[in-house]
Amino acid sequence: MKIDLHSHTYYSDGALSPKELIDRAHNMQVDVLAITDHDTTAALPEAMAYQATQKRALQIVPGIEFSTRWHGFDIHILGLNLDYQDDRFCQRVATQGERRELRARQMAEKLAKCGIEGVYEDAKTLAGPGQLTRSHFARVLVKRQVVKDFEQAFKRYLAKGKRAFVSPAWPEIHEVVAWIKEAGGEAVLAHPARYDMTSKWLKRLLTDFSEAGGDGMEVSHPQLAADTRKLLAQYAKDYALKASVGSDFHFPSRWTELGKNLSLADDLVPIWQHWTLA
Ligand code: AMP
Ligand code: MN
Ligand code: MN
Ligand code: MN
Repeated sequence: MKIDLHSHTYYSDGALSPKELIDRAHNMQVDVLAITDHDTTAALPEAMAYQATQKRALQIVPGIEFSTRWHGFDIHILGLNLDYQDDRFCQRVATQGERRELRARQMAEKLAKCGIEGVYEDAKTLAGPGQLTRSHFARVLVKRQVVKDFEQAFKRYLAKGKRAFVSPAWPEIHEVVAWIKEAGGEAVLAHPARYDMTSKWLKRLLTDFSEAGGDGMEVSHPQLAADTRKLLAQYAKDYALKASVGSDFHFPSRWTELGKNLSLADDLVPIWQHWTLA
């Protein structure tokens, strides 16, 4: 069974509509796909409605990727298989949108001080009804030829400590884990190898995440070296966390694809252990 539990649509910083994402997952022979946009569940009603019209077997798992703050790091936590229509949960998701909105305006003010005006408006237009992310800001800077590419936009302006960086007031890990659990979902630490932290810090993070009631961690994502993959599998066992796999698909490219390279070692407990999968 091909399982991919991390993907984005144009309701955050992905390029595809929910429908296009699902069609692509079908083509890639994915059996189970979680849609996990940054701090929004806006893609889910459309995705569920579209999937219901399809005859082919593909199970959509409702999900989200929450931004949290931990010791100065932006830590991403996936909420999987949750009740995305729960009122209290929706209110909590809305507060994340407000934080993003505020940060976007502050980033635009910083850019204006660098002589780059009106980026908020352009980024907002790009994001449409979706959640505003730094990726939208990067795209505006590339389009205006302020920078030569996406990477440079982060390196010069948007990454931590750079000229237009604004540290958002993201909630703490334990709060977000509670939001997910109260909506009936499972909390999964996203891409643990991508936080640019030493193994000492990563172990502290896993300890805190586990103590906060976290259920699982991603042990496999594309472009992960074999030894890192092995280390993550070991951590999952050491910290008694279930294992999750996801491509973190944003758009078609040479490096990322839905459902690719996401195998799970036999000795790990899959996060979908108790899910009803068709
Ligand atoms: P945000 O959640 O709004 O802070 O935006 C984070 C998104 O920007 C991530 O999910 C990535 O897709 C992208 N991103 C963050 N840092 C970089 C980077 N250094 N280079 C390219 N993309 C990045
Ligand atoms: Mn992203
Ligand atoms: Mn992420
Ligand atoms: Mn992601």
